[in-house]
Amino acid sequence: MKVLIINCGSSSLKYQIIDSESEQVEAKGICERIGLDGRLTYQPTGGEKEVTDAPMPTHNEAITLVLKALVNPKTGVLKSLDEIQAIGHRVLHGGAKLTESRIVDDEVIAAIDEASDLGPLHNPANLIGIRACQKLMPGKPNVAVFDTSFGMTLPEYAYRYAIPTKYYDKYKIRRYGFHGTSHSFVSKETIKFLGLDPDNSKVIVCHLGNGASITAVKNSKCVDTSMGLTPLEGLVMGTRSGDLDPAILQYICNHEKIDINEMLRILNKESGVMALSNGLSSDFRDLEEAMDNGNTAAGLAIDAFCYRVAKYVGAYVAAMNGVDAITFTGGIGENAGIVRKKVLAHLGYLGIAMDEEQNMKRGERFILSTKDSKVTVSVIPTNEELAICRETVALVNAQ
Ligand code: AMP
Repeated sequence: MKVLIINCGSSSLKYQIIDSESEQVEAKGICERIGLDGRLTYQPTGGEKEVTDAPMPTHNEAITLVLKALVNPKTGVLKSLDEIQAIGHRVLHGGAKLTESRIVDDEVIAAIDEASDLGPLHNPANLIGIRACQKLMPGKPNVAVFDTSFGMTLPEYAYRYAIPTKYYDKYKIRRYGFHGTSHSFVSKETIKFLGLDPDNSKVIVCHLGNGASITAVKNSKCVDTSMGLTPLEGLVMGTRSGDLDPAILQYICNHEKIDINEMLRILNKESGVMALSNGLSSDFRDLEEAMDNGNTAAGLAIDAFCYRVAKYVGAYVAAMNGVDAITFTGGIGENAGIVRKKVLAHLGYLGIAMDEEQNMKRGERFILSTKDSKVTVSVIPTNEELAICRETVALVNAQ
């Protein structure tokens, strides 16, 4: 089955065509600057990347151009659009109602809309993408895969915040967790890769990218996750603060005469390693280079990032009363050997030993720990599009 995977942002749209039998990507690309002017990037696998400037007033025009590129007689990978049998959409927030991937119908659309309050930047854009596909490819099944689904198996004592119950009852304020598609994919791949028992295993997945989060996965179910109601909680991130004392917000707002919205913008966009490195960069390649050249703020940023990861790993070992495997993924987890080394340096008490030579590797699947390490540590590149494709095919076939 050929599946079109769509990941819509407010002004962008990433897409891939995946053949579900071979699990190979046949073409991929991105539409950018939607609503401004518009630029389509299209790359068939093994072919040249094409970049075309074309007007995209809305996501409808963007998807129309993607579909045209896919069936272009010269460079397209499809003979006709009939070959697309399903469309899988990445959707940020499923709210309390959408706890697993769903074939899109009116009820699902209404629930995604309702959860827009919790994902104001993403859910409306995700819905625009779904509606555009419904309009341009009528009759084809659209499947919504939620970033929050994987976190819906948390026990209540893990997902409830210790604030008055009325806020949970009225607004469903709880821990949801994000990057769920990645955590689900990588935890399953870890179990397969290491030959663990899906029904009797304890895995910690560290998804370390510009946004970063950790999950504890016991017997294939997520039992805790570091992001909360929104993706701001948890680890130190590229520009997000992660955990902090909520009283800091009041203190800064009062002293700097700013409101809570501005404070939240600062915590989302001007914090994290970007802030700790004194505004140098949110990119670990820049931070590593600066640290090697003696920049102490860059060194502090990297150390604070790794320390927070290690603290969460420790917490999740307690959450599961043990751990069999720890896996690194995401742009940083897959590539930054220095981060893996610094995180693992805090975890010697678990009997973890790292193979220095293996740690030189990047961007591929490998075991990072030595043979005698008590916990197996690995690196497994995430593939959210493939995870969405698998979910989509499973739901369409079960129809
Ligand atoms: P992601 O959000 O998962 O795409 O990860 C993006 C981040 O990965 C970038 O901002 C960098 O911090 C980091 N990254 C990507 N490639 C490398 C690399 N070769 N070495 C160190 N960090 C990297």
